[in-house]
Amino acid sequence: MSKSFERVVIVGSGCAGLSAAIYTARAQLNPWVIQGKMPGGLLTQTTDVENFPGFPENVQGIDLMDRMRKQAEKFAVRFENAELVRVERTKENSNHLFLSNGHELRAQALIIATGSHHNFLGLEGEHNLMGKGLSVCATCDGFFYRNEDVCVIGGGDSACEEALYLSRICKKVYLIHRRDCLRASKIMSERVCSNDRIEVIWNSIPQGFECDEHGFLKALNVIHKETQSVQKVVCRGIFLAIGWKPNTEVFKGFVELETDGYIKQGRIPVETSLPGVFAAGDCTDKKYRQACVAASMGIQAALEAESWLLHH
Ligand code: NAP
Repeated sequence: MSKSFERVVIVGSGCAGLSAAIYTARAQLNPWVIQGKMPGGLLTQTTDVENFPGFPENVQGIDLMDRMRKQAEKFAVRFENAELVRVERTKENSNHLFLSNGHELRAQALIIATGSHHNFLGLEGEHNLMGKGLSVCATCDGFFYRNEDVCVIGGGDSACEEALYLSRICKKVYLIHRRDCLRASKIMSERVCSNDRIEVIWNSIPQGFECDEHGFLKALNVIHKETQSVQKVVCRGIFLAIGWKPNTEVFKGFVELETDGYIKQGRIPVETSLPGVFAAGDCTDKKYRQACVAASMGIQAALEAESWLLHH
């Protein structure tokens, strides 16, 4: 597909991207989806999704994304297994995309659905510990820590979800939170606080890691915010769940971004600062961050792109 000229290109293949793909394909716009680093998006790393309407018996994140992809394929959506490395606006107001596999595309309408990635603590040695005790995904890595003591850091729904998942396979889970109440929804907080295998360590901030002679994690030191006392939490695994950053680096200077990197929304949430360029899901939505909201934004972006193409 080198240098092909397309009506719609969708960047990202999570909930927002695939929903946009299904709608634009059904509107006969013959979309391309640039899959990105993680085909299927972050939902492929989740276990039980119990709040996506239509699945009273729960659905596994990976299965949900697999079904969305099959649905997109049914309408002949085309997938490119590559990442977007650069994008430019042309004089004719189309969008020139440069992909990691060397292909180039021109798109009349563009839908950005690149999602977000996990935050890190910023502590010394953090990145070297990835795979040696530090993880951002309990469902991916939890198995390596079965019957061990582990920590989860954070106080939101993600942290609770990770802690609950790990409580089923690990000996003990310490949930380390920097305040004295959880940010998570009431239902998740209650599940965590009533779980015998989870101990919440309140008002505590991670300070540093202790490792063995092979560089594997041995313990986490946390400092109590009020007393300043340091507690050593002996554990083999630490799971970070401290929020997200949008994957929008590649769009800097192309569309307007907020100071925290989220794509700036226009008159309606899926509009960007550029006509014919739309954004959907976690790259632009910092408030809801729900699979179903991302899917809905993907659909809105698809309908807006269709209408924009009709008038231009
Ligand atoms: P979040 O709500 O932003 O929570 C991040 C947590 O990490 C907060 O408790 C925050 O503490 C803490 N934190 C941030 N930076 C930290 C640092 N440097 N050191 C220590 N702690 C730090 O993120 P999230 O839990 O990933 O949730 C994001 C959104 O997705 C939310 O809207 C959530 O409802 C949604 N979500 C929903 C589900 C579900 O419905 N099943 C599952 C997962 C996520 P403070 O509280 O002090 O700020």
